[in-house]
Amino acid sequence: MGGWLPDNVATLLIDASYLLVAFLFIMGLKAMSSPVTARRGIVVAGMGMLIGTVMSFLYPGMGNFPLMLVAIAIGGGLAWWSGKRVAMTDMPQMIALYNGMGGGAAAAIAAVELLRMAAAILAIGASVVVAGHPMMQTIVLFFALALLLGITMTLPIGGADMPVVISLYNAFTGLAVAFEGFVLENAAMIIAGIVVGSAGTLLTQLMAKAMNRSIGNVLFSGFGEGEVAAGGEVAGALKPIEPSDAGIMMAFAQKVLVIPGYGMAVAQAQHKVWEMCQLLIDKGVMVRFAIHPVAGRMPGHMNVLLAEAGVPYDLIADIDEINAEFETADVALVIGANDVVNPVARTDKSSPIYGMPILNADKAKNVLVIKRGQGAGFSGIENHLFYLDNTRMVYGDAQKVAGALIHAIKAAG
Ligand code: NAP
Repeated sequence: MGGWLPDNVATLLIDASYLLVAFLFIMGLKAMSSPVTARRGIVVAGMGMLIGTVMSFLYPGMGNFPLMLVAIAIGGGLAWWSGKRVAMTDMPQMIALYNGMGGGAAAAIAAVELLRMAAAILAIGASVVVAGHPMMQTIVLFFALALLLGITMTLPIGGADMPVVISLYNAFTGLAVAFEGFVLENAAMIIAGIVVGSAGTLLTQLMAKAMNRSIGNVLFSGFGEGEVAAGGEVAGALKPIEPSDAGIMMAFAQKVLVIPGYGMAVAQAQHKVWEMCQLLIDKGVMVRFAIHPVAGRMPGHMNVLLAEAGVPYDLIADIDEINAEFETADVALVIGANDVVNPVARTDKSSPIYGMPILNADKAKNVLVIKRGQGAGFSGIENHLFYLDNTRMVYGDAQKVAGALIHAIKAAG
């Protein structure tokens, strides 16, 4: 440890600090489970990461410091830059990319260690290695097969299940790092790997539960399947309504439940939507936001957007809390959501979303749906909610329509 502490004392100190790091990670993750404490959680986990990184530098016999600093500066700089620029709707792809890089890094470390074994073999029995010992081929073959397995397992999985798969692979990466930590006797890798592995496993289970799917079903049910069902024939017609009339309907309602979805995120309509809701609240209308666990394109997507717009947490309710309230709602306002309000999930066994819990928008007295046209949702199927007698379509981009609704509500006096 730079010579100022004996190695055994230094190692003890470093291991103790890793325990502190693990504690901070766990407390950080715990805080992230609620939108109210999420920011604090990120700071606490970040502190843990900082302490872990600094202490890793003090490890006896730790390698090339300048190179490590350059790597951290480049990696950290790129992550900062890309994190600032990425659109919220592209976040899942970015997480998947970083996850892939994490897995690649873990694999590269394993490869380097395997090659060092090769070095020992070279030193002990040069003739075996020079003569073409299969170690290198084995490593290459192992990598190629692992890559092939990853690709063939992932390709048949339906798009709607992809977040579960990303989260599962993230958990695998964590476990791989933890196992490497055991092999390399590196406490930091063991702790960080186990934290990532457990968090990823829990997240995977939560997401699968939210979609009412088993993980086995997500991973293996896609093999050999053809096109997804289109949702069957739908009776009835789509009935458009002007934003001016929709605004009046809400202005004179007692209770409006807002269901945001992917389209609200794409349109970046959250600020206008909240402005509109504030006008309704000022008029004495009871307004709440109903959040489906897989609304949007990543867990917590809608909560983050609404928090960004300044919506108070007590107006935001999850599916279990709010579903019973639709029966007493005058208006269910669906903003760029589709699959998460599709009633076929309750009834049609051939539907790819069958069994997924949905928000009971169809039980409200009136349903207003904001979307641009007749585009399908993520699962690619028709939505029977849009054809119900009590449903009206407000066509247009979510942000523009929210602006028009604001005018209409103001004009309603
Ligand atoms: P969705 O089913 O993807 O539907 C989004 C709707 O928004 C579309 O029907 C589209 O119709 C409309 N839209 C698009 N751009 C718009 C705009 N600018 N203004 C207004 N409307 C717009 O969304 P969802 O109900 O939120 O459901 C999420 C789906 O994503 C689920 O199937 C879920 O399984 C899947 N998923 C979720 C996650 C997650 O972790 N949350 C991750 C990956 C996938 P138009 O084209 O007609 O406008």
